[in-house]
Amino acid sequence: MKKIVITGVAGFLGSHLAKDLLSKKNKVIGLDNFSTGKKQNLSSFSSNTNFTLIEIDVSKEKVMDLEELNGIDEIYHLASPASPAFYQKTPFDTIAVNTIGTKNMLDIAKRNNAKLVYLSTSEVYGDPEIHPQHEDYKGSVNTWGPRACYDEGKRLGEVFCYLYYQLFNLQVKVARIFNTYSAGLRNDDGRVISNFITQALKGENITVYGDGTQTRSFCYVDDTIEALTLMMKNDKANGEIINIGNSEEISVINLATLIQKLTNSSSLITFHPLPKDDPKQRCPNTNKAKQILGWEPKINLQEGLLRTIKEYRIKLGYVG
Ligand code: NAD
Ligand code: UDP
Repeated sequence: MKKIVITGVAGFLGSHLAKDLLSKKNKVIGLDNFSTGKKQNLSSFSSNTNFTLIEIDVSKEKVMDLEELNGIDEIYHLASPASPAFYQKTPFDTIAVNTIGTKNMLDIAKRNNAKLVYLSTSEVYGDPEIHPQHEDYKGSVNTWGPRACYDEGKRLGEVFCYLYYQLFNLQVKVARIFNTYSAGLRNDDGRVISNFITQALKGENITVYGDGTQTRSFCYVDDTIEALTLMMKNDKANGEIINIGNSEEISVINLATLIQKLTNSSSLITFHPLPKDDPKQRCPNTNKAKQILGWEPKINLQEGLLRTIKEYRIKLGYVG
């Protein structure tokens, strides 16, 4: 039985990962400060005796003193707000958790000789000039804008991982996650899929930012979680950065129309100003994930959206 730490356990991805690892009979120690995470995300496993929850800010040094973090085998470092609406509300915390928080978790991994997977993001590519984005592309990030706290915070988090790999030979792996979704996203999360489905089901206007020609590529949560656990297992992923995402690319306006159709909604599509530095196109090159992990996403966008819509209907109390 492995002893596995998940930071950000009460968040969208953290709670899905914990559920998966507990179902495989591991011990999971979840750390969270509940800044964007919710206790209700833990409800399906909070009484599992193999699960321990510790409420703590992992950017603070006191995390290093936790007794429970001795004798651990693996760390998944997920703690960080991910929705632009949230990470821009607390920009200094966003920087802290991805830099000092990452260093703290790397130090804990080092003293335990544990493996660590760090969740970075496609945002390290900024507003990309090459398409699709492969791991060698160095990115086009604006330091002087509202997204910089997240993008540059993650980039520096990757630097810490690089140094611990190079200097201390730590088994560290960096997952650059592209937009991931499911009904596990908070309805008020502000991200596009949670916004559009919630709006469509409530009969509210579907709010497209800009003209909607910007693109994203959406990966269903089960696929992302599978990739993360494969990364942790696979020694060939040590010291590697790997894109994790679905290369099925769609414009935001086409996503709005698709969700309108799949929900059978009478909502209107309305247009609003495009947020500053909003990337114009984003799509992962996933060859490296295929080669190293033998991983490819299995759930296409339409299937993932139908699952998400079904669950959101229940969440919102619209089950018929
Ligand atoms: P989320 O906001 O749902 O979850 C983040 C969790 O981290 C929350 O439970 C929050 O309370 C916790 N947290 C934040 N700061 C903390 C701190 N200082 N100490 C302890 N806990 C803290 O976000 P998510 O979508 O689950 O994202 C998880 C990770 O994946 C993040 O690192 C994010 O950058 C990365 N990621 C996610 C996506 C995506 O599409 N979901 C895409 C790219 C990268
Ligand atoms: N977006 C939108 N309407 C919304 C929320 C988001 O048009 O209600 C757009 C946003 O401008 C971006 C894309 O959808 O172009 C994805 O946004 P999200 O916040 O989900 O993630 P990002 O990839 O920008 O971090």
